[in-house]
Amino acid sequence: FFDGLAVQPADALLGLIGLYRADTRPGKIDLGVGVFRDDFGHTPVMRAVKAAEAMLLRDQETKSYLGAEGDVRFAELLAEVAFGAGPDRLAGVQTPGGTGALRLGAELITRSRPGATVWIGTPTWPNHAPIFRDAGLAIQTHRFFDVASAAVDFDGMIEDLGEARAGDVLLLHGCCHNPTGAGFTGAQWLEIGRLCAARGLLPFIDLAYQGLGDGLEADAAAMRGLMDALPEAVIAYSCDKNFGLYRERVGALWVQSEASELVRGNLLALARSLWSMPPDHGAAVVRLVLEYAALRADWTAELDAMRARINGLRAALAASHARLAAIGGQRGMFALLPLGPEAVEALRREHGIYMAGNGRINIAGLTLDTIPAFVAGVAPYLS
Ligand code: PMP
Repeated sequence: FFDGLAVQPADALLGLIGLYRADTRPGKIDLGVGVFRDDFGHTPVMRAVKAAEAMLLRDQETKSYLGAEGDVRFAELLAEVAFGAGPDRLAGVQTPGGTGALRLGAELITRSRPGATVWIGTPTWPNHAPIFRDAGLAIQTHRFFDVASAAVDFDGMIEDLGEARAGDVLLLHGCCHNPTGAGFTGAQWLEIGRLCAARGLLPFIDLAYQGLGDGLEADAAAMRGLMDALPEAVIAYSCDKNFGLYRERVGALWVQSEASELVRGNLLALARSLWSMPPDHGAAVVRLVLEYAALRADWTAELDAMRARINGLRAALAASHARLAAIGGQRGMFALLPLGPEAVEALRREHGIYMAGNGRINIAGLTLDTIPAFVAGVAPYLS
């Protein structure tokens, strides 16, 4: 029965975890998987999350079903974090992670416009194209980042989007681009808004790192501006990085439109056939953290410290080598180095430096102490 299936490639990043574990060299450096790490290479459970989990364990009285929309209060409180006070024309539901939000949004688009085209900048998170493609949408790519100059290729992007037609979807990273760390200037965001309005493109914003770039408010500003400028937008949100909840799978999808109720009904119907209802635990934790002022303050403080750590490492990396200078102005956990697969492989073999095959590094995997060894290792490959 299953002879119609094709063999699938293994997840390269997960394969890297095994290789790293088996490596016995004391100076090995893990810049692979995209999770925050502290100075000891540890990915901690955040203090406010631990406290909220203790409250849940003590006070939760039932595990009975919620609805397909998940934890309604979670989505309300998170909407305030994402959009500021009092958003209207928004339909939102809790989803299993940002991935679930992206897929639900893709399925909603397919329901309304079967076979619609989604424009995706290159490079991007490797799961973007499969999510939209598996939902039945067509993918077109546009230039986004020029690896050689380590800068956004905005002219190339606008030129490529000249081919976009009314009813197409434009995927945008709200902040902290994965894998490049590169972002648009304020003026470029305005131009993107004007382009969407003039050409009838639907912006689909993936906000997976709010608070890890320049701060909670600053990281949401571009998205908010776009939502002010345009009648319709789709927002896929992940709490898995900014609350450190990764495996708990916490996210939300919001759709801004005049047809909120119609959209909400379809989101719920789609959620029921995809996962019936999202997992509760992580969203209940986020709800408690946002509900209790003391927990919220502690979460914000710890998030501030995580961001300061990443940006401190960025500054140190940028100062360490001329070809890494752009990293100082980029934001989020990642940077994309101009390294071919052979260089990535050689760095692993000869120096115990582990990174994704495309040259993406997780900056949080470094420490101020390991930066010199890292830079010494990569320098010969930076032309
Ligand atoms: N979007 C981007 C850009 C991401 O980097 C990630 C996580 N790697 C996600 C979405 C999905 O996040 P989650 O783990 O919440 O599904």
